[in-house]
This record gives sequence, structure tokens and C-alpha cells, in this order.
Amino acid sequence: MSELNAKFPATDVLIVGAGITGLAHAAEAVSRGLTVRIIDRDTRAAGASIRNFGHCCVSAQTGELLELATVAREGWLRHSARAGFFSVESGALAVARNSAEMAVLEELAALRGSGSVELAPAGRVREELSGGGDPAIVGGALLREDIRVDPRQAVGSMAAWLAAQPGVSFLWRTSYLGPDDAGTSASGTVTVRTSRGQLSAARVIVCVGHDLDYVHPEVAEPFEVNRCGLQMALVRPARPLDIRRAVLTGTSMLRYPAFAQTAAAAGLRTELETNSPELLAIDANLMLTQRPDGTLLIGDSHHTETTLDPFLDEATSDTLLDGAAKLLGAGPFTVLQRWQGIYASSPQQSFLVKELQPGVTAVSVTSGIGMTISFGLARKTFAQF
Ligand SMILES: Cc1cc2nc3c(=O)[nH]c(=O)nc-3n(C[C@H](O)[C@H](O)[C@H](O)COP(=O)(O)OP(=O)(O)OC[C@H]3O[C@@H](n4cnc5c(N)ncnc54)[C@H](O)[C@@H]3O)c2cc1C
Repeated sequence: MSELNAKFPATDVLIVGAGITGLAHAAEAVSRGLTVRIIDRDTRAAGASIRNFGHCCVSAQTGELLELATVAREGWLRHSARAGFFSVESGALAVARNSAEMAVLEELAALRGSGSVELAPAGRVREELSGGGDPAIVGGALLREDIRVDPRQAVGSMAAWLAAQPGVSFLWRTSYLGPDDAGTSASGTVTVRTSRGQLSAARVIVCVGHDLDYVHPEVAEPFEVNRCGLQMALVRPARPLDIRRAVLTGTSMLRYPAFAQTAAAAGLRTELETNSPELLAIDANLMLTQRPDGTLLIGDSHHTETTLDPFLDEATSDTLLDGAAKLLGAGPFTVLQRWQGIYASSPQQSFLVKELQPGVTAVSVTSGIGMTISFGLARKTFAQF
């Protein structure tokens, strides 16, 4: 038995990765009365889960993703109350600036009903944007089920709350290296190798986000899991704004399935190809959320590769910032920070839950919806055990 294993006796569950996927699985384990150890190679979560918009984008999902997102919504609200982090139930606002965008929103509203997707006239959209807005705005839709958290606060608060629960412990600066070759022991525990020695648990759940190929290429490669790099910025607007909702635009409507599956989406693509080719060229999802201190998270572009170029492209930033300033009528912005976010991306499916060997399961959200579905995905993973 290694020194570490003697110091840290086997738990019911060992979670690898303290991003939102790992933490949601840890919270699900706690709710089932299980003991949990969470390890992460860093001293705190610094991956995709703190680099995003904090948007739990429920209404724009369909099928199983909508089911997972609906469960996740309740998970966010429950843990926001327990762990004391900022969340708003105010939903999202999809802004239409031409008839093609409005046609998508009208079609979705007719399908879902106003309790979920409520059409809003241009005046209401301007009010929601704090009284400004692009003169081209023709209307919009309120996406009632969406919620928001502040990603920089929520993930750290979740970890702190979990650490205070009985039977939960964290081991930071501890890298997972893979399962021990011995397999499952007679006592029913599996042992994994880490940078600090061996750890054992009845069940191991590997939630390493976009770095799945580093530890389990045998899973990442068949699912064609790559890295999607996104450029983001934190800005201070020229005048104070109060925007409660996550704000989506036409490019968002091409991306999220509930919009993209409408008949009107084809006309929207043509419209964007004709009038906003610069946004399509960077595969933009032009959207924003406001943090509690009034600053705005603005993004994002998308570029997928196995190994990403680390250099941020200034022209891409300009396209996104100019687009957001025009949308809000609130430029010029003071840029406070720029960064690259990375999430796992598979062309085959939006998430994967894969048993690697008895007792060891890999879970990765392989699309840009980890904040939207993680709590629902955790419920699904445990239901399979
Ligand atoms: C810019 C951007 C915007 C986004 N916007 C949204 C949004 O608005 N809504 C939404 O739903 N989703 C959004 N997403 C997607 C969402 O952020 C991700 O799907 C989600 O955060 C993935 O969480 P995770 O826990 O799997 O990964 P991560 O947060 O990356 O966490 C993985 C953790 O595993 C650890 N780790 C890795 N390898 C090892 C190892 N070998 N040993 C130990 N620890 C290890 C890492 O240190 C890290 O802490 C966005 C993503 C980005 C990048």
C-alpha cells in the first residue's frame, strides 16, 4: 500500500477534475450519502468552467439535452442557495435585428409556447438592454427557463461548499495518471495512479474536460474529441448598464439546437452569409452576460484542433467587441481582460459517459454546454451505476 493510500483510505467515489462536471458529480454523490474524494492537478479550477459566460442555456436545447438541462437548472438553483453564490432566474434574451432572425424566434415561440419562449417587441428588447441597443432591433424573445451564474464565483463556491460536507475531501495539485493495472480488488475497490501515489475508491469518475486524450486516448480518439478554442473578453461599458438576462444574437441561433432546427434557420444562415460574413468566418456565437460588478463577458469565436495555437488573434477580438458594442449601442468598451477558453469538442455527440473498466467511468461534455447540463449529466451517470 502506498503512503498516500494509507493516509487517504478508500472512498465510495473518487472524482478526477474539479471543474463543473467533476463538482456536479461530487454533489450528486453527496446527495446519495456517499463519501467522495476529488482530485485536481491544479490548486483550484482554472479550466473551461471559470472561463465561460455562466449561462445555463435551457430553452435552446432539444431532446435529451433539454431533459438534462432542466434537471441541471434545479441543481444550479439548489446549490446557489446552499453555497451562497450569485444566480439569476431572469432567463435569456435573444435579440432579432432582421426579419430572418425574427422568423426563427417566431417559429420557436409557436412550438414552445410563451411560458418558455415569449416574443418581445423592439421597445421591450431595448429596455432589457438597459435602454440602448442597435437601431436595427426589430424584436426578440425572452427564454424563460434559462438562468445565469457568475462562472468565476460559482465553481470556487461549489468546491468550498463541497469541502465542508461530511465525507468529502479534496486533494489539489494531484494529477491522475490512469487506473492501476491490478483492476478491481477482492474488496471491490479500484486503484488509480496519481502524481502523489495510489488512491482507491469503489468507483472512479474521470472528468478532465478537454484533456481526456492526455489520460485516455483510447476513449478520446474514437469519439474524435478535440479542443475547441474560444476568444473571450471582459469589458467595462462606456455607460453603466443593467442587463439581467444572458443576451444572444443571430449567430447564437445558428448554434443552439432549438433555433437551428427551425425551418427558418436556413434563411437566417443566408442572411448572415450576406450581411455578417465576418462573424461566420470566426464561427462566432456573439453573446454576452453581465457580471455582478457591472462588467460584461463578451464572446466568442470557435476554432477546433487537437493542439490549439496559444496566440489570441486581435482581429477576432475586434470583430466580437465591435459586434457587441453595436448590439448594445454602448461602446467604446474598456477591455479589462482577454483570454482563450477551451472545451472538449466531438463531432459525434454532445457529451460522453464511457466505462473504461469495471468501476472507472470517463465523463466529458464534448460541446459548449457543460454549464447547462452538468448537474443533469451527473444524475444520469449515477443512475447507470
Ligand atoms: C469561452 C467558453 C464559453 C462557454 N460558455 C458556456 C455557457 O455559457 N454555457 C454552457 O453551458 N457552457 C459553456 N461553455 C462550456 C463549459 O464551460 C464546459 O463544457 C465546462 O466548463 C466543462 O467542464 P469540465 O469540468 O468538464 O472541464 P474543466 O472546467 O476544464 O475542468 C477540468 C478539470 O480537470 C482537471 N484535470 C485535467 N486533467 C487532469 C489530470 N490528469 N489529473 C487531475 N486533474 C486534471 C483540470 O485541472 C480542470 O480543473 C463555455 C466554454 C468556454 C471555454
